[in-house]
Amino acid sequence: MSKEKITIFDTTLRDGEQAAGTRLGAREKLEIARQLTRLKVDVIEAGFPASSPEDYEAVRLISEQIEGPVICGLTRAIAEDIETCQKALAKAKRFRIHTGIGVSEIHIAGKFADDKYGKTMGEKQATILKMAVEAVKRSRQYTDDIEFYAEDSGRADRTYLYKVLEAVIEAGATVVNIPDTTGYAIPEQYGGLIRDIRANVPNIDKAVISVHCHDDLGMAVANSLAGVKNGARQVEGTINGVGERAGNAAIEEVVMAIHTRRDFFDEVETGINTRELYRTSRMVADMLGMPVPANKAVVGRNAFAHSSGIHVDGFLKKRETYEIMRPETVGFGESRVVLTARTGRHGLRHRLEEMGYTLSEEELEKTYERFLAVADKKKEVFDEDLAVIISDEIHVLTEQTYELQYLHVACGTGTLPTASVKIGIKDEIKQAAACGDGPVDAAYEAIREATGQAPKLESYSIRAVTGGKEALGEATVKISDNGRVYIGRGVSTDIIEASAKAYVDAINRMVSVQEKTSEQK
Ligand code: MN
Repeated sequence: MSKEKITIFDTTLRDGEQAAGTRLGAREKLEIARQLTRLKVDVIEAGFPASSPEDYEAVRLISEQIEGPVICGLTRAIAEDIETCQKALAKAKRFRIHTGIGVSEIHIAGKFADDKYGKTMGEKQATILKMAVEAVKRSRQYTDDIEFYAEDSGRADRTYLYKVLEAVIEAGATVVNIPDTTGYAIPEQYGGLIRDIRANVPNIDKAVISVHCHDDLGMAVANSLAGVKNGARQVEGTINGVGERAGNAAIEEVVMAIHTRRDFFDEVETGINTRELYRTSRMVADMLGMPVPANKAVVGRNAFAHSSGIHVDGFLKKRETYEIMRPETVGFGESRVVLTARTGRHGLRHRLEEMGYTLSEEELEKTYERFLAVADKKKEVFDEDLAVIISDEIHVLTEQTYELQYLHVACGTGTLPTASVKIGIKDEIKQAAACGDGPVDAAYEAIREATGQAPKLESYSIRAVTGGKEALGEATVKISDNGRVYIGRGVSTDIIEASAKAYVDAINRMVSVQEKTSEQK
């Protein structure tokens, strides 16, 4: 029996990034987009170009550089949004415009309260219908690939919803997105909605039905799968389920549910390269500064760990007793030795190309220097190490106000941890020394002293990238100032140095945003 393909629509860079409390730069988004391409997602929603110059730039860069997936941009049902969006997407090989509007009475009354949209609900609904059709027609001037979202479909009047869907499909929409915007749906109910749409929208066979679910009640994945079971053929979600509030449907869970339970989802399949799931999850967690909980399905650190005695015993006798998926299927724990200190630039470039990274000469040179330093200490360098070095390099801002030039920390049992630092500030060098509760605390105090910056420390975490006692440590620091959060990262085989670098990196990001904001004023 031939299976129907489920289109996997990734919105990590749009719905996901929106909620992370930090904005990714275009270069970082590009690297995530490259990884999503290796994962073989079908559509990448790269951003909402009309929302900010940064989003516009990210969508433009991804459109120019990424080949394979369809690149998609979000718009409201407003002419200017669509014009801005198509300009950002213009260089993409294949692109999609994702436009739409709120269709529930709650959304219409809230967003279109003004009398110019009509005095009664009936009049307002007629205006909204017209705006929806116009938005699709305008998008059609630029592409045949048009997705229409009927925001808050779940709470909309059914007759009106069917009417809107019929009209936008007639106008040229090729995908209709039925979002559970508020995460309110229950699987049976949401599946029923998709089934009813298929039964009641006369031209529905001319469009693909897409599901877009939120996890407010922990049912985003279950709702998405209920949609698939009832005829939806596109699933929207994010890596690790990041997104507004409780997040979106986690792509890795949707994909592995369909893959593992092919007996149940026997009519469909996805084109995802599941072996890239784990690596993608790590990259997104690192770049957004949102670590994955250890018990998270599919990609959590403990997702494949068996600890209770009975389970371990059973597992050792026969894996299938307690294991429904193989860790290697999702690329878990794949650490191939790739390179050593004897590897030259050529070998490094070759391996990076195999991993899918395209670096400029300058980026390659910097990466090579970092690689040598790591290879020297670590002997064997794994793909994961390289990935972290690269994301650390491209994460670095072009303008570095502060540079950590020297760090010395003394600590031990019975001594007061002390740190001294030298920080380069343009042509100047500032030194400072401080004590603290621990070595990292002492280093941070000294950095505050030297830079004169004292943001609030929100969180701090460190992880070993690969195994072994010389493993690369990657520190992630969140600081805040005036209600804005900034994330910094640092990588080193020395965890104190990684921590100090991460802190300086976060301060650099903060200062750069503050300078930009004061220029605009
Ligand atoms: Mn959403």
